[in-house]
Amino acid sequence: MGTTRQFTCKELLQELADYLDGALEPEDRTRLEAHLAKCPNCWVVCDTTKKTIEVYKGLAPYPLPEDVKSRLMMALQKRSSRAGQG
Ligand SMILES: [Zn+2]
Repeated sequence: MGTTRQFTCKELLQELADYLDGALEPEDRTRLEAHLAKCPNCWVVCDTTKKTIEVYKGLAPYPLPEDVKSRLMMALQKRSSRAGQG
């Protein structure tokens, strides 16, 4: 405790769904946002995922480009392979 360790890209992607759900602890949320501010790659992933979730929830009624959709499905599959634990 005490040291503020930065998220790696891998950790960020693991926490991204919870972050977008608003389910992340405030401390983790701050660290995640700090990483996003410095890492364009993760920012793009976050932004794309956020938009896609909005589409799923019906907030943004426009279709996603196929390549974005397939990349997202891959990401979601990776995530669901990690679900089921606890
Ligand atoms: Zn990153």
